[in-house]
Amino acid sequence: MSLNTIDELRDEIDAINLQIMHLINERAILVQKIGIAKQASGVNRFDPERERDMLDRIAENNKGPFQTTALQHIFKEIFKAGLEIQKDDQKEKLLVSRSMKSEDTVVSFGSAYIGGGSMQLIAGPCAVESYEQTAAAAREVKKHGLSFLRGGAYKPRTSPYDFQGLGLEGLKILRKAADDYALKAVSEVVSVYDLETAAEYLDIIQIGARNMQNFDLLKEAGKMNKPILLKRGLSATIEEFIYSAEYIMSQGNKEIILCERGIRTYERATRNTLDITAVPILKKETHLPVLVDVTHSTGRKDLLLPAAKAAMAIGADGVMAEIHPDPATALSDSAQQMDFSEFDDFILELQASGLLRMKET
Ligand code: PEP
Ligand code: MN
Repeated sequence: MSLNTIDELRDEIDAINLQIMHLINERAILVQKIGIAKQASGVNRFDPERERDMLDRIAENNKGPFQTTALQHIFKEIFKAGLEIQKDDQKEKLLVSRSMKSEDTVVSFGSAYIGGGSMQLIAGPCAVESYEQTAAAAREVKKHGLSFLRGGAYKPRTSPYDFQGLGLEGLKILRKAADDYALKAVSEVVSVYDLETAAEYLDIIQIGARNMQNFDLLKEAGKMNKPILLKRGLSATIEEFIYSAEYIMSQGNKEIILCERGIRTYERATRNTLDITAVPILKKETHLPVLVDVTHSTGRKDLLLPAAKAAMAIGADGVMAEIHPDPATALSDSAQQMDFSEFDDFILELQASGLLRMKET
């Protein structure tokens, strides 16, 4: 065969490649239309029977030279790509997605707000242990001009024999300490049954890492008229995190704050691995405010400041950190809570860095 003939055949192949490409794209447009119709009628994207039908039809009509199995393999890849396109289209239509709402969601609490260019610091003890301990932390929070006091009342502990939190009593103490210092109260709820009661005492309901995929809890939180602070799951992908936020918003609650708190990896130098790039990704893909919990992500006092600086520099809307009047005696997370003089230094360093820009409305 002459070189000229090879060139001619190659020209033909080039032309066919383009035809195949056009046909695949035409097919993709039809797949997209089907996706929209399916979503509108609540029908599942996946339809194995329909796939089997299409593959059988290919087998019946194949006249070679390709073996049917080879052709079916190619077509299965085309089907898969079609499903991916439908999935991407659906993702763009998530209520939490940036494509559905271009402006940042700002969760407002009267005098303070989270999101929309402010930088908030949520601080307080890991667990509410007593009024004195919580009020001491509240005094420090207020002293620095901050607005949000955290404190766990229902503690999700690894061991059932560890301190489980004071429960309702803890919520009452947190509320009182917050009121005494004119602060907003943030605390975690681990059970659907406690949501209503907790809402009476809290300004923000936290859903912790261990419950990020507790879908019943997410759905019920979505029916509340209270901002929800949703933490990323221990081993959750960013996509799973976003879908969890969607669970809440799909039930009507639009006030959701996301919190990156580190994920579990093979690295043992830190308690978890702070996925700092999750912040700009979440800001890009959703319209929700994003915080970084420097305490539970690093699990190390010496890393709280650099992690907070990184969070602020990369575009987080705020930082969460744990403080305790006497960390050595804390009933949980004693190793990584800051004492008050460490907290003073932490705030001073952040202010000096120019990254901490606290704004009041
Ligand atoms: C907490 O903030 O008290 C907590 C338990 O955090 P996480 O759910 O991120 O582990
Ligand atoms: Mn803690």
